[in-house]
Amino acid sequence: MSLDENCIFCKILRGEIPSDKVYEDGDMLAFRDIHPQAKVHVLCVPKSHFSYLSEMGEKERGLVGKCMAKLPEIARLAGIENGYRVIINQGEDAGQTVFHLHIHILGGQNMGENLL
Ligand code: AMP
Repeated sequence: MSLDENCIFCKILRGEIPSDKVYEDGDMLAFRDIHPQAKVHVLCVPKSHFSYLSEMGEKERGLVGKCMAKLPEIARLAGIENGYRVIINQGEDAGQTVFHLHIHILGGQNMGENLL
């Protein structure tokens, strides 16, 4: 996997910063968000550093696809029972703050009024 020296999610992937892990395999790590925006808020992070959804090349496309396919299991492992919202923040106007692509999974409550 290709990781970045200074990226906070790469540091989590390398085990240099602790995380509250929900799921891990060779392609991704899913852990609970440190500032949850819903009762359950998990981030799924691919094990390769690229900053933006818009930078997804051929290799990353497969990796992100695997992450997406795994979300139902990750949500179940996180204790979500009645559905969830999936969000990717792309760039400045979306409020992206960590520049390593990640997928937000939000649930554990009715998400009707709650935008991330
Ligand atoms: P985004 O705004 O899409 O870039 O989301 C970045 C998310 O990463 C935010 O929801 C943060 O709360 C979360 N976050 C930042 N640092 C950590 C950390 N060390 N552990 C868990 N979540 C984090």
